[in-house]
Amino acid sequence: MKGEILIKNAKLVDGRGEHGQADVLIGEGRILSLSGGEASTVLDATGKVLSPGFFDPHAHLREPGQEVKEDLQSGLAAAVRGGYTDVVSMPNTTPVVDSAEIVRALKEKAARLGRARLHPAAALTQGQEGKVLSEARLLREAGAVMLTDDGRTNEDAGVLAQGLQYAASWGLLVSVHAEDAGLRRGGVMNEGAVSFRLGLPGNTGYAEAARIARDLEILRYVMEGPGARGLQPGRSLLHIQHLSTRRGLELLRQAKQAGLPVSTEVGPHHLTLTDEHLESLNPIYKVAPPLRTQADVEALMEGLLDGSIDCIGTDHAPHTQDEKELDMLRAPFGIPNIEVCWPLLYTELVGKRGFPLPTLIERFTDGPRRLLGFSPVHLIEGGEASLVLWSPGEERPVEPHTFASKAKYSPWAGWVLRGWPSVTLVEGCIVYLQQENR
Ligand SMILES: [Zn+2]
Repeated sequence: MKGEILIKNAKLVDGRGEHGQADVLIGEGRILSLSGGEASTVLDATGKVLSPGFFDPHAHLREPGQEVKEDLQSGLAAAVRGGYTDVVSMPNTTPVVDSAEIVRALKEKAARLGRARLHPAAALTQGQEGKVLSEARLLREAGAVMLTDDGRTNEDAGVLAQGLQYAASWGLLVSVHAEDAGLRRGGVMNEGAVSFRLGLPGNTGYAEAARIARDLEILRYVMEGPGARGLQPGRSLLHIQHLSTRRGLELLRQAKQAGLPVSTEVGPHHLTLTDEHLESLNPIYKVAPPLRTQADVEALMEGLLDGSIDCIGTDHAPHTQDEKELDMLRAPFGIPNIEVCWPLLYTELVGKRGFPLPTLIERFTDGPRRLLGFSPVHLIEGGEASLVLWSPGEERPVEPHTFASKAKYSPWAGWVLRGWPSVTLVEGCIVYLQQENR
């Protein structure tokens, strides 16, 4: 058989399990064969693992309007270096992504760049002001995959209820930043022993739990009314972003057991860092929601393992160096992490804690795809050739100055990680090859 790319001696692992070694022949955007063949490009994958490309349901690429922090070119280049073939971009830009025209422009530009595929999220409300709903149908037709006011919290419960009803009608997911604004107040870090010691304003974990509880009741109300029409079985309608607390997880578990169409994600920082890191008073650790306690980390790890947490979302949130060097009170929330997310979690969860590899891969691939209604990518003949080849044996420190992202700092700088992606393919085309950047 003849193809375009042959990946020789690759160990195959996808969300379904480990499938041994194979010579993967790729052509016409698909996996033609798992038993070799002829191709013009041959890659030797000895010692490497081939997996479906990662899908990030939550990244801030800052375009339009905040290109000083990041843009589609740098953000999508960073994504493919992290093994991502698909990225959902958040709409809290300048202007806000709340019209079909902006969604279309973003998709067209990303397609021209030819790196990771871009799936824009659009604002749930016009200008993300929480008052007037945006046009779900037009946004959907333009290619938006979810509605969210991320960056802002949805204060008006009635608007959220109506937004969920419209979203259900048009096959869209509503994703929420679940923090009660009143309880959160001006908190810059987790409220607890460390914040009291440092004298910094705290943001209690109950701000997250309280808002999740409210939003689950709103979802229940929508599901028992006429808004449930058009919801496909197995699809989520309400998605809780960047879960950070044990209590929030407990509420979600109960809701899922009761059959509510809810899903959630966790970010790499909430699985690997705690509020103890803030002892340094370094705003590099300032994120929203804040880094919590080790007990929360342990709970999130369990939730990721048992499927109560559906997927990993990076919440890649780059800022300029100058902004991030302000003091703890004034520095913005957010860190860049899309380039290190996979090696970080592979090293810390699989390597150090024995987390099952196929489960972690599922949370990076099928998990996010499923909740957005995309079909899974599996390593089977005829399967889509959107893939990542990564190196479980190659150890190398996190070096932020080498990032493709414009934000060249990282809370994991100097951490020695394994699992670095070396080749990323989207529909059979190589969109990242390690040598080109190193
Ligand atoms: Zn975000």
